[in-house]
Amino acid sequence: MKPFVYERPDDPAGAVATMVRPGVVYLAGGTNLVDLMKLGVTVPDMLVDINALPFHDVEEVPGGLHVGALVPNSDLAMHAAVRAAYPAVSQALLAGASGQLRNRATVAGNLMQRTRCLYFQDVDKACNKRSPGSGCDARDGDHRELAILGASPQCIATNPSDLAVALSIMDATVHYIGPHGAAAISVHDFFRRPGDRPDRDNSLPRGALITGVMLPELPIAATSVYRKVRDRASFAFAAGSIAAAIDVRDGVVQDARIAWGAVAHLPWRAWAAERLLRGAPATAENFARAADAELSGARPLRDNGWKEPLLRNLTVEVLLEMTS
Ligand code: SF4
Repeated sequence: MKPFVYERPDDPAGAVATMVRPGVVYLAGGTNLVDLMKLGVTVPDMLVDINALPFHDVEEVPGGLHVGALVPNSDLAMHAAVRAAYPAVSQALLAGASGQLRNRATVAGNLMQRTRCLYFQDVDKACNKRSPGSGCDARDGDHRELAILGASPQCIATNPSDLAVALSIMDATVHYIGPHGAAAISVHDFFRRPGDRPDRDNSLPRGALITGVMLPELPIAATSVYRKVRDRASFAFAAGSIAAAIDVRDGVVQDARIAWGAVAHLPWRAWAAERLLRGAPATAENFARAADAELSGARPLRDNGWKEPLLRNLTVEVLLEMTS
């Protein structure tokens, strides 16, 4: 591993100030970053350890729940207010990684984790995300796990976060300190499609320091669900996943929120499916029709077309369970 300088500031301004220097990255739980450093994928000149910063609390505030950036995933998953008002968030966190990793990994780190594309993690392979302009070995290689929606010729990576999928249906907001001071960005704008800049995972300004995530008051979220399909029972990234919340009265859908994971470079909010469902009878046929509408934009490659029926069936199954 390349030698690096280590600093541990105890105030946010001090942490952000370090970012004017090149080759500086923030260290929180380190559960993804340290792996990438061992692989030579990330080679920082300086690590700025942010664990002494005051972002460790979950607070009920006017308008919702504010989650500090450094709250461990395990603590957030078990927080009483989260389990009661945003159960999909708790379920998504518990579906991710192992108990040991959840104890160490943070909320901000979860959002900042990088794709698990095999070629991104192998410095001998061509990867536009790791090395812009080098190509994409995944397109003709092993892309079984990669994106079917919203990809670009430059990159077909998927976002690995379970939490991000649940935050998508909650319309959560990411708060940060950027070059011009404190700011916030909707989770829908935080994550991005790869386009011709797949090296950028998110829309944060360079050097921005995430301070927390705001979960807005959202009555429909109290019955939300997160369901993850994976190749083995635990400690595996999703083959496909769904976060959903639905309000049905007299058999008719009043409101529905659906997001899919492991199908795109970002948590995929199923806006088209939601539009079709509002005002429609809550039937298996309509759930399948809504999923198909969302999947009409899918562009699978040679080996990942199986994700389409998986997501359709998963959507129907989960919505039927929630409404019967
Ligand atoms: Fe790299 Fe993206 Fe291609 Fe994977 S899919 S090799 S991350 S450019």
